[in-house]
Amino acid sequence: MDTVVVVGASLAGLRCCEALRRRGYSGKLVLVGEEAHKPYDRPPLSKQVLCGEWEPARTEFRRKEGYAPLALELQLGRRALALHAQARRVVLDDGKELAYDGLVIATGARARTLRGSEALSGVFTLRTLDDALQLRVALLQQPRVVVVGAGFIGLEVASACRKLDVAVTVVESMALPLDNPLGSAVGQAVQRLHEAHGVSFRLGVGVAALEGHGRVEHVRLSDGTAVPADVVVVGIGVTPNTAWLEGSGVAVGDGVLCDPTLATSVPGVVAAGDVVRWENPLFGESMRVEHWSNAVEQGQAAAARLLAGPTGGEPFSSLPYFWSDQYDLKLQFAGRVRADDELVLVEGTLADRNYVALYGRAGKLRGVLASNRPQQLLRYRKLLSEQASFDAALNAARPSAGP
Ligand SMILES: Cc1cc2nc3c(=O)[nH]c(=O)nc-3n(C[C@H](O)[C@H](O)[C@H](O)COP(=O)(O)OP(=O)(O)OC[C@H]3O[C@@H](n4cnc5c(N)ncnc54)[C@H](O)[C@@H]3O)c2cc1C
Repeated sequence: MDTVVVVGASLAGLRCCEALRRRGYSGKLVLVGEEAHKPYDRPPLSKQVLCGEWEPARTEFRRKEGYAPLALELQLGRRALALHAQARRVVLDDGKELAYDGLVIATGARARTLRGSEALSGVFTLRTLDDALQLRVALLQQPRVVVVGAGFIGLEVASACRKLDVAVTVVESMALPLDNPLGSAVGQAVQRLHEAHGVSFRLGVGVAALEGHGRVEHVRLSDGTAVPADVVVVGIGVTPNTAWLEGSGVAVGDGVLCDPTLATSVPGVVAAGDVVRWENPLFGESMRVEHWSNAVEQGQAAAARLLAGPTGGEPFSSLPYFWSDQYDLKLQFAGRVRADDELVLVEGTLADRNYVALYGRAGKLRGVLASNRPQQLLRYRKLLSEQASFDAALNAARPSAGP
């Protein structure tokens, strides 16, 4: 292979470039990204950057070592518009075409928006560094904030608002925050924590419309009531960035559809990160994972897959893992759970937010949640990777659970 093009200059794309070089690939390597910034880390955006605890520059990857050792051609501020798979060319938004022998799709995902909100100022999503910096400027005006969506991003934004002493209401159509997927007991505990820090909740009610004259003034809820808002942060999930692949022959469907080795339906094209939907052998199911560690691991695996040639490659088997920081709470979760999984508290108590909970279904251990107990997660992760039975996991747990 003489030329590899990686589209998506973020976590998965960069880790893929690093792995290609580590594995001895010495040909031309082009990394294309539509953002003007050098690749940076997203988790601090909703945490340290929003709170002003970190300078934005601290999020940049490879700050110390720089890009020279990778011998990369960095094409930043350039969006890939189309893929001509037969000719093995990527078309960029400046009209240039990049020829490749191997292509890596690492275009991630973008934040979903609320329909009808485009015309109003004061409405934000949080996916990019620019989003975070604009939102931070708005928060410094001490606005009344409404966060739509009580998932991880929404709750981290609420936590940042309270750290900045900004009034915040969280609106969520489910009955509890994080109810799906972590279960109602965990959702209640998280709600209590936020309420103790002064967050208001409107739960079990949807958003009918954002209202205002040029600027958002109210969030109209589906029960007819209105919540006053100067700033609205929409945290209702993401959409994989696959539009540029339309007509290319690369199969898509809620992500780029890959085989278990991360190869796409088109020869010479692999994919990595939030954009990938693949059959995870560890769970025997098709999934798309929107977590940091998955982007790292898949970036590395996609490099190996590309170098293995048309028929080589190992199945990419992975245990989804993520963390979330809210106030002094560190939640860490590993596994794959559903709302109806059985939850057993095996260490600590929900009340003091210091606990380990196991999730089981059909006799198998499916997930582990550690709240402020980072050390404990490791051994349960091992059990999850070994596909341990739920009973074996419960037996392995220390009998120190409390209500
Ligand atoms: C605010 C925030 C907080 C988070 N916190 C956590 C956390 O605490 N824990 C955790 O596990 N995970 C967290 N995540 C998720 C984690 O950051 C993502 O899983 C990770 O960034 C995925 O990396 P990626 O490289 O696959 O995709 P992305 O990071 O989405 O990068 C894709 C890149 O491709 C670019 N791109 C898209 N289309 C094109 C195109 N056509 N041409 C050129 N470039 C294109 C995009 O602009 C982007 O720069 C968080 C995410 C956000 C946004």
